[in-house]
Order: sequence, then structure tokens, then C-alpha cells
Amino acid sequence: MRHEGANNKKMERTYIKDLQTKKGSEATIKGWVHIRRDQGKMIFLDFRDMTGKIQGVILPNAKEAHEVGSKLRPEWVVEVRGKVNARPEKNIQKEKQNGDIELEILSITVLNESETPPFDLSTDGKEIGEESRLKYRYMDLRRDRLQKNIRNRFKVTQLVRNELSAIGFTEIETPLLTKSTPEGSRDYIVPSRIEQGKFYALPQSPQQYKQLLMTAGMEKYFQVARCMRDEDTRGDRQPEFTQLDMEMSFVKREDVMAVNEDLLIKLVKTLYPEKEIQEIPFPRLTYAEAMEKYNSDKPDIRKDKNNPNLLAFCWVIDFPFFEKSDKGGWTFTHNPFSAPKPEHMEWLMKEEKIPEILTTQYDVALNGFEIGGGSIRNHQPEALKKVFKIMGYTDERIEKNFGHILQAFAWGTPPHGGIAWGFDRLMMLLENEPNIRETIAFPKTGEGRDLMMESPAEADPEQLTELGIKINVKK
Ligand code: ASP
Repeated sequence: MRHEGANNKKMERTYIKDLQTKKGSEATIKGWVHIRRDQGKMIFLDFRDMTGKIQGVILPNAKEAHEVGSKLRPEWVVEVRGKVNARPEKNIQKEKQNGDIELEILSITVLNESETPPFDLSTDGKEIGEESRLKYRYMDLRRDRLQKNIRNRFKVTQLVRNELSAIGFTEIETPLLTKSTPEGSRDYIVPSRIEQGKFYALPQSPQQYKQLLMTAGMEKYFQVARCMRDEDTRGDRQPEFTQLDMEMSFVKREDVMAVNEDLLIKLVKTLYPEKEIQEIPFPRLTYAEAMEKYNSDKPDIRKDKNNPNLLAFCWVIDFPFFEKSDKGGWTFTHNPFSAPKPEHMEWLMKEEKIPEILTTQYDVALNGFEIGGGSIRNHQPEALKKVFKIMGYTDERIEKNFGHILQAFAWGTPPHGGIAWGFDRLMMLLENEPNIRETIAFPKTGEGRDLMMESPAEADPEQLTELGIKINVKK
């Protein structure tokens, strides 16, 4: 049974953001000591919880509180009871959360002490070496900037989920232990214990699964999908990253572009109202125009590059389907599952004018970064086979690698298309951050190392024996 007695009420926790509603009465907060300023007779303490900060003061007559207060250090975890007082007019800080109130501390209970943190948590952290920030990431995440980035990331995900489900999309999870899908990168592979000598591949994207969901009649799919690509070091890349992945049936290029453009506009207007979108509808450039005018297929078309709140989205379309591979044959520029533009389908089927075939690929660029890309797919098995043929695959190899999807397409797969957003990169731009690591809770270094968990690491010899694996490291 719950007692509503006066004592019980006092113990109830008030979130720091809600102290505003308690002016003139007592409240109990729980959180961390953010900053401590001991002025001898008076001790000032800023407290922090997930909802914000409040300044507290221990007055000279609060003997017990004073005793505890003088021992407190930053990052100690405390429960504090106090009186919520209005600040005298001259002390009001209008710009600051709770700048008009102050907690007059009556008692403090220490819930956990803290050793001296590895670095200052009261700054934006930009002055601290990244190695140290990543090694103690759980501490780094306590700082305001990271709290904001991670919480805003969730808000964006949530808005996307709500908007997509409102127009009939279903969120569906697809496997992580899978088979290689070519996206132009190296796969991470995972050894099988039960079938020694065989390997799963971690997905570079859910491309095949999402298309097979169209075969399955799901019609509108999305997923906040983790993708893994074993690529060489690059500032805005991570070995694992997040895509907002979607696929739709019975659509044309315009339909997919419209859904995504609307969603991007809605999300900026709702969650980042301080930002200005340079041009709506988003301008469209062909690949040829983008290369000619900006020498980039993800052009930065901002009219004012000094304005941190300017978002210049644009679409890039009409990419060539194929390009020469290192080995002298043909390879795809974006995605082998894309359809050519309808007017070029005949060239594909006849294997002629290969360099002139354009794909239905559409990329969305923002301020010089590619934040998304997708296409209408080749949903007829014969046409898809042609793509692999042009790339020099033998019939056996096509059958071995893609037999399952060709079979699926032979059983009434609807026309379909989709897109995937580089979600980390989008968050980086929305949060005005210099790299995607600032928007990921536990990122890896540029070299793909997790400094906190110390991974990658050697495997246990017993594990290797079970897997039938012998290590043969190049020295
Ligand atoms: N799977 C593609 C990619 O990861 C996106 C798409 O075509 O939907 O780039």
C-alpha cells in the first residue's frame, strides 16, 4: 500500500527541470555534483540530472548540510533536499535554465562518491584529446554537448518513426549474420562454429533483405539499420554506422524522392526550427551538371558558407550505371540492384552503349555531404542477370551468389525502389559537429578501434580451436 503521508511526499524525486513548479516549497533532487564553489561560510553547488542543472547554496546555519557539502567533489552522486527560492532580482540569469531560482540546501545524502574524473566535464570537450575522450566515453557522454547530441539523435529517430508509420510503413528488423551483398566495400566476416570453415558476412546494408520484403508483400518497409563495412580510415566513416533504410513497392523515382524530401523538411522544421533550408523544393542536378559546375557528385550549393544554420539540400540524379573497374571490365557505380532509366533498359538488355546507360539512382546531398542514396530496382530477373553479365560474372557465379533473389523475382515481385540515409552524417550536420563520432554514443577511432572496450582483441585459443581457425598473422 502506498502512503501519501507528508514524509513520503518529501522523498519523492523532482526532476531538475520541474523545480520551476516548486517555487516556495521543498523538493528532493537526485543527480551529480556538477561544479562546487566553496566560499567558506557559504558553499555553492551546481547539480545536474538528465533534465538539466540547478544552482544550490548551503547557508552557514545549515550545519549538517555544511559538513557533507564541504566533502563533496564534482561527479559525486547525491540526493539533495532543499527549498526552492526565487533569486533576488540582481542575481537572476535570464538566459540560463533555472536562472531565476536557487535551491537552499537543507540536507544532502551521498549515494556514491567519485574519483577525480579523467578530464573536465563542464566544457564542450573540444580541448581534450579524442583518445582520452573515447577511452572514457561513458564520462565524456556526461558533458552537455554529448548529452544534447545523443538525445537529439533519438528525437530525430522518433520523428522519422512516427512520420513513416503514419503513412503506412512497417519497421522490420533484418539479420546481422548474413551473406555478402555487394555495396562496393569489403565485408566483415564471422566464422561459423557449427560448420567449421564457413563464414557469415555482416551486412554492408540490408539491401537484399529489404528487396525480398517487397517480394514478401510488405510494400512499405523501413529500419534504423546498422551496417558494417570494412573500409580504410576516413574522417566521416565508421566501420559500423547507421542507415535509415527504406523500400517501397509500386513506386517511381518521383515517389521515393517526394516521401524523403517531405520527411527531411518536416524534421528540420520541427526539431531544428533555427535552421534555414536554402531552397524548397530541393534543387535537382544531373550527375553531369554537378560534376561540371561543382566538380563533385555531392555538391555544396550553399550560397553562404559562413552561416552555420543554412541547410542546402539537393538531389543528384542520372548517374552512369557502369564504370570501368580496376581490372578493366565494368562495375556498377552505386548499386547492382538498381534499374537503368526506363529509356535505357533496351541498351542494358542488348548490352550496348554500356557507358551511356544511366541509372535510376538518386542521391541527396547536404552542404557537400552525401546524406542518402537509393534507386528504383531491377525487379525482373532477366534484367538483373544482365547487370551481372556485363560485370563479367559467369552464369554459375550469378546462380551461386544471387540465385535466391533471382528466384524471388521470378515469383511476382512488384516494381519497387528505396533509399538509405547516412544517419550519423545527417546528425553531424544538423548538430554542427565536425565529425560523425560526436553523434554516436560509442564510436570507434578512425582506425576502427574501440578504446574503451579495447577491441579488436585476440580471441581465446579455445574459441579458435572450436572454430577450426589457426592464426597466421603477417609480421
Ligand atoms: N543499399 C544502398 C546503400 O547502402 C541504399 C539503397 O539503394 O537503398 O547505399
